[in-house]
Amino acid sequence: MEETVELPSRLAILPFWNKVLLPGAVIRICCTSPSSVKLVEHELWQKEKKGLIGVLPVKDSEGAAVGSLLSSGIGSDSWEQGRKGEPNATGGFHKQDAKKPRELTHWHSRGVAARALHLSREVEKPSGRVTYVVVLEGLSRFNVQELSARGKYYVANINGLDLSSAELEQAEQDPDFISLSRQFKATAMELISLLEQKQKLEGKKRFLLDTIPVYRLADILVASFEISFEEQLSMLDSVNLKVRLSKAIELVDQHIQSIRVAEKITQKVEGQLSKSQREFLLKQQMRAIKEELGDNDDCEDDVAAVERKMQNAGMPPNIWKLAQRELRRLKKMQPQQPGYNSSCVYLELLADLPWRKVSEEPELDLKAAKVSLDRDHYGLLKVKQRIIEYLAVRKLKPDAQGPVLCFVGPPGVGKTSLASSIASALSKKFIRISLGGVKDEADIRGHRRTYIGSMPGRLIDGLKRVAVRNPVMLLDEIDKTGSDVRGDPASALLEVLDPEQNKTFNDHYLNVPFDLSKVTFVATANRVQPIPPPLLDRMEVIELLGYTPEEKLKIALKHLIPRVLEQHGLSSQFLQIPEGIVKLIIQRYTREAGVRNLERNLAALARAAAVKVAEKDFMVHLGKDNHPKTSLMNTRLVDTAEVEMEVIPLSVDSQGISNSFSSASVMIIDEAMLEKVLGPPRFDEKETADRVATPGIVVGLVWTTFGGDIQFIEATTMVGKGDLHLTGQLGDVIKESAHIALTWVRARAADLNLSTAGDHIGLLEKQDIHIHFPAGAVPKDGPSAGITLVTALVSLFSQRKVRADTAMTGEMTLKGLVLPVGGIKDKVLAANRYGIKRVILPERNSKDLAEVPSAILAGMERKHSAQKNPILHGDQNKNKHLLCLEHPLMVST
Ligand code: ADP
Repeated sequence: MEETVELPSRLAILPFWNKVLLPGAVIRICCTSPSSVKLVEHELWQKEKKGLIGVLPVKDSEGAAVGSLLSSGIGSDSWEQGRKGEPNATGGFHKQDAKKPRELTHWHSRGVAARALHLSREVEKPSGRVTYVVVLEGLSRFNVQELSARGKYYVANINGLDLSSAELEQAEQDPDFISLSRQFKATAMELISLLEQKQKLEGKKRFLLDTIPVYRLADILVASFEISFEEQLSMLDSVNLKVRLSKAIELVDQHIQSIRVAEKITQKVEGQLSKSQREFLLKQQMRAIKEELGDNDDCEDDVAAVERKMQNAGMPPNIWKLAQRELRRLKKMQPQQPGYNSSCVYLELLADLPWRKVSEEPELDLKAAKVSLDRDHYGLLKVKQRIIEYLAVRKLKPDAQGPVLCFVGPPGVGKTSLASSIASALSKKFIRISLGGVKDEADIRGHRRTYIGSMPGRLIDGLKRVAVRNPVMLLDEIDKTGSDVRGDPASALLEVLDPEQNKTFNDHYLNVPFDLSKVTFVATANRVQPIPPPLLDRMEVIELLGYTPEEKLKIALKHLIPRVLEQHGLSSQFLQIPEGIVKLIIQRYTREAGVRNLERNLAALARAAAVKVAEKDFMVHLGKDNHPKTSLMNTRLVDTAEVEMEVIPLSVDSQGISNSFSSASVMIIDEAMLEKVLGPPRFDEKETADRVATPGIVVGLVWTTFGGDIQFIEATTMVGKGDLHLTGQLGDVIKESAHIALTWVRARAADLNLSTAGDHIGLLEKQDIHIHFPAGAVPKDGPSAGITLVTALVSLFSQRKVRADTAMTGEMTLKGLVLPVGGIKDKVLAANRYGIKRVILPERNSKDLAEVPSAILAGMERKHSAQKNPILHGDQNKNKHLLCLEHPLMVST
C-alpha cells in the first residue's frame, strides 16, 4: 500500500556512500531501514528545529554499520541507481561502533540541505514494514558543526555556506570571476550544443545559460553527467565561486572530450558494421540469384577446388612457388573484384597442365606398326616406309632429336590420318592443333595476362586438353600461318620445333617455362612454298600426291565403305554399294585430289540407308498369320493386338532371324538411287568437249591448294581500239602473261599465217580483245598460263578450234621461250581426272614426270612438238611454227 505525503521540509544530505547531492540537482532515495524510516517520519513530518537538520546518509552497505544506534537498520537504504565502492573523503567525522571498534563510518563535514519534492510511503503486508521513497532537490551547501544521535538516527547542527547577495555582487565584479564565467559559459555552450546535436534537439537547453547564475549552473551541469565520487566531493567542497567555476570547466571539458571519443568509436563501429552488413546482404542476394539459376558454386568452393587440383598437379618447385603466391592473392580477393576471375582461370590452367604426367610408352613393336599402317592406309608405300624408318629410329633412341615430319599434299589424301597412325604406333595420345589462318603470334604464344580476354596459346591449350606431356601433336596446315603487324607466328613455331629451345617454351599467358621436349611434333601442309625457309629447315617434307581414280576406288572399297558403314551403325547386310556405283561417284560427283568428298558422298548414301533400315526396324507389324502363337504371346496379345512391335519368333534361331530380316531390308545402291540421294551428277565427261566448242577457248592446267585442276580460258574480239580486257579476278602476274601473249601473237601474226584467216589481222587495230578466266569469283594468279593464253589467241584469230582433249601449262617469255612451271604431277593427275587425253608441258619439266604415278604415265606417249602442231585441228604442217616452244613435251594417253 502506498501513500503520498505532501511535505516540503528540510533535510540534510551528506555524502556517505558513493553519491553526492549537489545544489540544484534532484535525487530519489528509497528509505527501507528503520533508522531512515524513523528519520523521515520525525524530520519530515515534524517541524524542523532551526539549525538542526536530519541527516540522511545516502547509502550504507550491509556490513558497514553506522554506529550502534544505526547499525540495525541503516544498511538497506538505497539510491535508485546505487553504486558500489568505498568512500574516500577527507576531513570528515568518524563514528566508531563500540561493539565493533574496528568498523569505522566516515562522515563528511560538508553536505547539502535538501527539499523533499515528493514523498511516498508504502506498507508491506502482512509484516507491516514501512518504506519511504523521497525525491529531494539539493538547495545549498552547509558545514556540519556537530553531529548527534536522535534515537535511531543522527541530527546535525549546521551553518550554511551560501554567500549573501552583497557578497555575491562583490564576487561577480571580480575580473577573474568574469573571465572564468565567460570561459565556463563557452564550455557549457559547447556541451549543450553537442548534446543537442546528438539528441537532434534544438535550443531547448540553451536558455539555461541565460537564466541561471553561472555558479549554480556549474553545480547543475556537473550533476547532470557521471563523474567519480572523488570529483563529486571536490565539487561539493568548492565553496569558493572561482574554484567552483574552474573545477566545473575542467569537468565539463573532460565530459565533452569523452563524448567526442565515444562518438568517434561509435561511428567507426557503425561504419564497419554497415560495411560488413552490406557485404553480408549482397552475398545473401548473390547466393539467392545463384540458387535461382541453379548455380550453387561458391567462391570458397572455387578456391578450394583450385587448391586441391594444384596439389595434385606435380608442378616443379619454382612454379609451385609462383602458384602459391597467386593463390594467396586470390584468397584475399572478393569474387566481385576485377582480377578474381582471371586469377582463378590462370591457377586452374597451372593446375591442369601436365607438368609431370606422361602416358605410358610400351616398347615399340615395328611389325605391329607396319601392319596397322597398312590396315588403315591403302598405297602410299614410300610414305609408309618413311614412317617406319622414323619409328625405328625412335625405337633405338627414344630421345632422338630427329627432324619433324611434315606431310605435304592436297586435302583428303590422308595426312592427318597418317599422323594419328604414328601416335597409335607409339601408343601416345594424339592432339591436333589447327594453324590455318593463324596470323597473330599470340595465337601460338598466348596473350600476356595484362590484356583483357587474354588466354594461353594453342599449344599450351592443347596440352591442357590432352593432359599428358608426351603426346603426338599435329601442327595442321603449317603453311597457312601468315605474318602481319601482330607478329610472326612462324618465329614462335621455330622455337617450338627447335629441340634446344622447346625445353623452356615460354607462353606469354603462362609466364613460366613449359617443357615441350617430350612432345612428338608432326606437321601437315598443302604446299611447301608458303612455309618459311627456317621452319622448313627443321622439318622433313614427305609429299603425298593426289589419288588416281583407280586408287580412289580401292581406298573406297577397302577403307572408306567399311568405315562409313560402321560409323552409321550399318553393315553390308543392310547396305551394299557396288564397285560400279563407286566408280560413278568418283567420276560424276568428285573431282578432287584426295578422297574427302568421296567419303562424304558415301556417308550420304549410308545415312539414306540408315533411315530406311531404321524405318523397317519398327514397321514389322504384328499380324495373326505371320507369328507363332506361344502361350506367352497369346496372353500379351489379347489387349495389345494393335501395337506395332518387333516380334522374335521363339521357334526360329537367331541366325535365321537376322538372315530373314537382312534379306528383307538390304539396300543395294543403283544408279537411280545414287541420283536420288546425291542429286544430279556434278561433273560429266563431255564437259570439256562442250565448253571448248568454239575457237578462242582452251583448257589450261593450274595448281591450287586443293591439288591440280583445269582452268578454261576464253578469248573473244569485238569492235574497238585494240585494247585488251582481262576479267576473272586476275593477279598482276597473270595479267602480264596475257599482255606478253598478245604481243607475241601480234609480232608473229605473219609467221603464224593468221593473215590468211580472213580480215582479222587487219582488224586487230580496230578490235578490242577480251580474255576471261571463268569461275570469276576465284582469285587467280601465276605465270603458268602463258602458253594457254597464246593458244587461245591464235585459235581466236585463226578461227580454228582447239582440241578439247588437250590441256596445257607453261610460262612463256616475250621472245617465245617456254619456261618450266611447278606442280606438274598434280596437274597431270588433274588432267587425268577430267578425262583429258593429252597434256602439253614445257620440255624442261620432263624431269618432274618421274613423280607422276607410273600407272598414269604408262598409258601415255611422249612426243616432241617441234615437228608438228600439237594443238590445233586442221592442217598440221601449215602450223608447225605455231609456238616456238622449247621442245615442249607432249604426253598423251
Ligand atoms: P588430310 O589430312 O590429308 O586432309 P585426312 O587424313 O583427313 O586428309 O583424310 C581424309 C579421309 O580419307 C580419312 O578418313 C582418311 O582415313 C581417308 N584416307 C585418305 N587417304 C587414305 C588411304 N590411302 N587409305 C585409306 N584411307 C585414306
